[in-house]
Amino acid sequence: MSGLMTGKRGLIMGVANDKSIAYGIAKAVAEAGAELAFTYQNDMMAKRVLPLAEGLGSTITMPNDVSVDGAADQVVKTLKQHWDRVDFVVHALAFADKAALTGAYMDVNRQAFLDSMLISAFSFTEIARAIRPMMTDGGSMITLTYLGANRITPNYNVMGVAKAALEASVRYLAVDLGRDRIRVNGLSAGPVKTLAGAAIGGARHVFRHSETHAPLGRNPDMHEVGRAGLYLTSDLSSGVTGEIHYVDGGYHHIGVPRDE
Ligand code: NAD
Repeated sequence: MSGLMTGKRGLIMGVANDKSIAYGIAKAVAEAGAELAFTYQNDMMAKRVLPLAEGLGSTITMPNDVSVDGAADQVVKTLKQHWDRVDFVVHALAFADKAALTGAYMDVNRQAFLDSMLISAFSFTEIARAIRPMMTDGGSMITLTYLGANRITPNYNVMGVAKAALEASVRYLAVDLGRDRIRVNGLSAGPVKTLAGAAIGGARHVFRHSETHAPLGRNPDMHEVGRAGLYLTSDLSSGVTGEIHYVDGGYHHIGVPRDE
């Protein structure tokens, strides 16, 4: 894939460490020649993100807590000091209060609901709107989602509701931005062992169940998700927008698993 992304510049949001899905995508696009800029949530994250960014040839890093009003505009302001154009955005971040990721969905409190919606869903719309004027040559925006958006998975709860809003946002944004030749897609990954993944109650059960019943007999690894990210951010997917692309070993197709 070397050269596929040569000359393309992309913003990567959501690296926490070298197990993050955002890092898997960043690695795949950097190896294909892309130039990258990274955001990190806070100073604690910076310690891990800065060396990872440097390892992928990037010196453009900036703090960005998406729950703060005006954060997306600030990212674009900083980005403009380095680049005059952006070609793609990878949004791979989410949050819900741990207490809401166990037990019954209906017990979620108002603040946990609002936080989850703001950080996990609305932040994608906000960065899309803020960065659009920099995407003067068209391009691609992707976000990370999960099957819990449209099917019930244990303890996913408010995060499932936020992912449903995020997936609907993908479709609306695809229409808003299509005439600017900006494509907007969601990448729905099967379970991957990350910090965010571990926060969900009973994550181990979901991980095992998915790998047992997926047609491929396993869950995806971060590099497979990374390469699907490369497809969606590159011109290989130039005719694709408003799509939710599953990278889950085919698990989402299963209604009743085989009797083994
Ligand atoms: P991760 O813990 O490595 O990444 C989550 C990121 O969200 C972190 O970098 C964290 O700093 C960031 N974040 C949280 N709150 C933030 C805020 N207020 N401002 C800015 N950043 C904030 O976990 P991951 O699994 O790589 O998660 C990336 C995305 O992939 C998420 O959207 C997640 O829902 C999605 N996803 C994960 C899985 C999985 O099994 N791990 C499956 C499907 C989808």
